[in-house]
Amino acid sequence: MLSDAASASGGNVVSSSEAVNPLHLSGALPRFDLFESEHVVPGVRALLTELEGELSDLEGSIEPTWTGLIDRLESMSERLGFGWGMVGHLMGVQNSDALREAHAEVQPEVIGFGLRLAQSRPIFEGLEALQASDAFSGLDPAQKRIVASLLREARHAGVGLSDSDRERFNAIQAELGELGTRFSNHVLDATKAFGLLLRDPAEMAGTPESLRELSAQNAREAGEEGATPEAGPWRITLDAPVLIPFLEHGEHRDLREQLYRAYVTRAGSGEFDNAPLIEQILALRHEMARLLGFESYAALSVDSKMAPSVAGVDSLLEDLRESSMDSAREDLSALQSYAEEQGLEGDLQLWDSGFYSERLREEKFDYSEEELRPYFPMPRVLEGLFALAGRLFGVSIEAADGETPVWHEDVRFFRVKDEAGNPLAAFFLDPFSRPGDKRGGAWMDECLGRTIAGAETSPRAAVAYLVCNQAPPVGEQPSLMTFDEVLTLFHEFGHGLQHMLTRVDYGLASGIRNIEWDAVELPSQFMENWCYHRETLIGLSGHIETGEKLPVELFDKIDAARTFRAGSAMMRQLYFATMDLALHRTDLAEAGESIFDVQRRIAEKTTVLPPLPEDRFLCSFGHIFAGGYAAGYYSYKWAEVLSADAFSAFEDAGLEDAEAVAETGRRFRETVLAMGGGTPPMEVFTAFRGREPSPEALLRHSGLAPAA
Ligand SMILES: [Zn+2]
Repeated sequence: MLSDAASASGGNVVSSSEAVNPLHLSGALPRFDLFESEHVVPGVRALLTELEGELSDLEGSIEPTWTGLIDRLESMSERLGFGWGMVGHLMGVQNSDALREAHAEVQPEVIGFGLRLAQSRPIFEGLEALQASDAFSGLDPAQKRIVASLLREARHAGVGLSDSDRERFNAIQAELGELGTRFSNHVLDATKAFGLLLRDPAEMAGTPESLRELSAQNAREAGEEGATPEAGPWRITLDAPVLIPFLEHGEHRDLREQLYRAYVTRAGSGEFDNAPLIEQILALRHEMARLLGFESYAALSVDSKMAPSVAGVDSLLEDLRESSMDSAREDLSALQSYAEEQGLEGDLQLWDSGFYSERLREEKFDYSEEELRPYFPMPRVLEGLFALAGRLFGVSIEAADGETPVWHEDVRFFRVKDEAGNPLAAFFLDPFSRPGDKRGGAWMDECLGRTIAGAETSPRAAVAYLVCNQAPPVGEQPSLMTFDEVLTLFHEFGHGLQHMLTRVDYGLASGIRNIEWDAVELPSQFMENWCYHRETLIGLSGHIETGEKLPVELFDKIDAARTFRAGSAMMRQLYFATMDLALHRTDLAEAGESIFDVQRRIAEKTTVLPPLPEDRFLCSFGHIFAGGYAAGYYSYKWAEVLSADAFSAFEDAGLEDAEAVAETGRRFRETVLAMGGGTPPMEVFTAFRGREPSPEALLRHSGLAPAA
């Protein structure tokens, strides 16, 4: 069930204590000023008690109509989504021990309620009756799609199974949950179990200051009390922030080899061996898919995605492979020659490629991210981004700080208005890193979704959270952004636009809700393309001291760096995506193949430097064995094809032709941004582009030629 918006029927819970519990104030902007961690446990429990009662009522009096069934489901989903969503949001941006404990205490109850709802037989039958009723033909396409999605979710949750099959299905689910946790724990434990203590400064040759600091700190934590960044000792671990800089910068080749080997065999043998777990996970997923009537787990995964079929994914991955393989081979031979010039003897090995590509990158594009910062003060960047949104989509964005409570003093609040100045939507922006209480990374989340349910006149407007982790301001100086930070801001803003500019009036399909997973990154990655548009990027720059625009030569380097070793980067993603799909489409026991046989078979087609025979990368591939990407890793590439192709509509129209850009932008707004989850994504895309997506633009932007 989607976490959702709209206070229709039902109304708010009155908490047992006199004071208002902000988790119960659904339908309006959250009252962060009233929130305390103490609200979580009683607030969520009261909400769940109320919803449990309502669910029982609903199950006892199913009325297979839109208002009798869907509106009531939306209302329940709205209130849970508001209260639990506020807790989840604060877990990310204002974490504390007290909040974490409270969250952990009630989380199983929230999950339990979700399961009960998803597997409700009376609701499932009600949905089927609604779909079969005469009234169904009178619903609009978005309403019909919502009913179809709810039915599909219920089927995937096992509701259509016989009692004995459902029992088995639930047992599989429980076992898979446990196996996923054990998988992650093994990776963590195996990572923790490895540490290389270096005492000789020569062994650290070439490594950057930040790595020396981190590894000296690691050493101190491991009992080397006097460890310093300058004199060591340094403890090198397999955590990405330590390992990757070492592989990219460490000049000591034998150590790179030792670390690389440790990394790719992590959790691949001994007490933390994940191989047996992977076999069990794959077998259980296969059995589960078969119970639900699918040929394979891959087919089950693709059933709820935009990709039309597993074969459709195959064909895209194969197209991209054919177009990238030669370029990846050229990258390798160029790197081999370069490494030889630098004194490497013999063949370039897997533990050399990161090191020499970094040297080559430095030589070719002699700028650093740090050097770009003064050109991108945040106020200028925001101004430029908002101006772009105006040019493309005809919206204006105005600061509205102070109009509603926020969770931290750095958080900004903005309103989005249409051309006539009418309010359309709003968003919070929490831009800066706060390592103490804020999760890393960047994301967009919904605060309120657009919905007509419960509204007197016009639908309630959508409100988004945009969260980044860029460098905070220092003293009086505003935050100075790297190019990567600018890209990230554009990306999250793109998600936000789709949430905010939706024209879908039903809370279960407005904005980003009910959009297929492999299509949801379209608007976000689309916005990133504008950072590689010379006029846009130079236009939003302005040196903090001189006001000088980003020099064209620097822009050209940024642009050229985009295609540096793009074939190799593409092949790496294709290797993962193809392997993921291959593992999830066959019954390995039946086929007589081990997981490592599959890996080898795929690697032969998709790598230019084959993995080591003892490579156990699969044993730490958490995305697909402990995350949500099982038989879905391809989504990264799928969405990139859509976003690049969407941007190419602007290139076709003429990026320098303001009128054409505005016209294309309005069409993008009325299709991709407005239609949300109410229309199948292929129809949305075709409505915008006038044809189905093609990988041509992605390949061109990556400097790769389409296969003949
Ligand atoms: Zn994204």
